[in-house]
Amino acid sequence: MSNLHTDDKPTDTVTLPSGLYIVATPIGNLGDLSPRAAAVLAGAALIACEDTRVTAKLLAHIGAKVPMLPYHDHSAQSVRPRIIEKALVAPVALVSDAGTPLISDPGYKLVQAAREAGVNIVTVPGPCAAIAALTLAGLPTDRFLFAGFLPPKGGPRAAVIAELASVPATLVFYESGPRLGAALAALHQGLGDRPAAVGRELTKRFEECVAGSLSELAARYADAPPRGEIVITIGPPAPAEAVSAETLDAALVQAMGSASLKSAVALVAARLGLPRGDVYARALALREGAAESLGGGAGD
Ligand code: SAM
Repeated sequence: MSNLHTDDKPTDTVTLPSGLYIVATPIGNLGDLSPRAAAVLAGAALIACEDTRVTAKLLAHIGAKVPMLPYHDHSAQSVRPRIIEKALVAPVALVSDAGTPLISDPGYKLVQAAREAGVNIVTVPGPCAAIAALTLAGLPTDRFLFAGFLPPKGGPRAAVIAELASVPATLVFYESGPRLGAALAALHQGLGDRPAAVGRELTKRFEECVAGSLSELAARYADAPPRGEIVITIGPPAPAEAVSAETLDAALVQAMGSASLKSAVALVAARLGLPRGDVYARALALREGAAESLGGGAGD
């Protein structure tokens, strides 16, 4: 039985209307190129792509020859108007090296400019590593937050993780093999020991998904950087259990002994699953209390 609907957008290569077609391509398995994506690519008058060598291989796979133009969101100012001019009169496809354009890949500025110029914009959805990883991880998918790549350096990375710590959703990160161990260690430190999964080489021959707690995964990959492309998924924080005032104070006193007030608050809020504002207020009170007792209670 067909699941096509009468309102399907036509993809007849002969009658492809003018416009900008956002075309998802495989993330490792050529079999995942949809017939519609192939028809749009073969029927395009121009393909804007990241790397013409990568896209040339895809075109060879479907037996198509189409002019290509390298495009990045930071391409020279002149490139975007050229693509838009063409898309006003002919079908132009946008692809990235792999997966869905605009998802940690170039394209949003082009779509924005195309929309402003009145270009017909059409999406041709398909593979996306973040979504593929979520389907394997066995973590809640009713709410997820895609956070792209973490910063490579420790300080900015910890700051981003602290920002995300109280988000009540599964978190999704892109990562590379060499940085996986450090990223997992930082995620464990900033988020506590949540359930997680490492999806690797998805849709490829050696696809795997290793599930475990963040501490287990951090230990597993600490000295064994895996090859290939990686997606980390992490379950949401456990619903906050009632945290006693004593537990909060003890955690704050310990954290404030070795970190700035701001870092200590972020760490404790993430660990205990408490709102950062509440933890901040308590940290200030503790600090003021400590200062007063050092001052000998002169104001009493
Ligand atoms: N636009 C792409 C998408 O839709 O998934 C993502 C592009 S981003 C520049 C590349 C990152 O995606 C890789 O570093 C890796 O984290 C992830 N990725 C891409 N292909 C993957 C695969 N086959 N398995 C696991 N992760 C993959």
